[in-house]
Amino acid sequence: MLAAIGTVPRHLFIDDTAFTDRAYEDAAFPIGCGQTISQPYTVAFQSELLQLSPGMKVLEIGTGSGYQCAVLCAMKAKMFSIERQRPLYLMTRERLGKLGFKANLTYGDGYAGIPREAPFDRVIVTCGAAAMPETLLDQLKPGGRAVIPVGEGNDQRMLLVIKNLDGSIMVEEKGRFRFVPMLADKAS
Ligand code: SAH
Repeated sequence: MLAAIGTVPRHLFIDDTAFTDRAYEDAAFPIGCGQTISQPYTVAFQSELLQLSPGMKVLEIGTGSGYQCAVLCAMKAKMFSIERQRPLYLMTRERLGKLGFKANLTYGDGYAGIPREAPFDRVIVTCGAAAMPETLLDQLKPGGRAVIPVGEGNDQRMLLVIKNLDGSIMVEEKGRFRFVPMLADKAS
């Protein structure tokens, strides 16, 4: 996983020239639309919890800059990612294309997931959900795992959700993090 992070040049995911020379600091930076690129530690932490194998089908909620998505592509995941802010979706689609990362990007509401592509082996949410997004768990394969920061404001508990083969759900708490909110009911 660290090898994959090493292959993704983070400075290319930060447009704001005020921050590009700090791209390798362990910090979150603004990416437009009031959103942020996740801190490298958080990207590493969530990527590790996923326990990915090459070829797995992964759904990401919150494409943002595309950095987390690129890291998962480098780990050989088949990526599907949803972004709620159209300008970010457009910008990142172009960026990932230019850099040669093949990901299926969608503009829309992450709470809905992508029913026609379900089930997914893994689900990763990169914004803070006020409550557990059940629709996304429905789209998770039996035997699959989801990593979802859940909590109000900017205090989230990182939840590792494991769906057993019989469909039952196990949840483990993996620490506290700070995410931008997962937007609900955003108009267009
Ligand atoms: N994974 C991103 C993190 C970006 S921050 C990266 O590596 O840069 C979280 C992103 O989630 C923001 O871009 C925000 O617009 C998006 N987001 C918020 N609510 C959402 C929703 N309901 N559906 C999809 N994306 C959402």
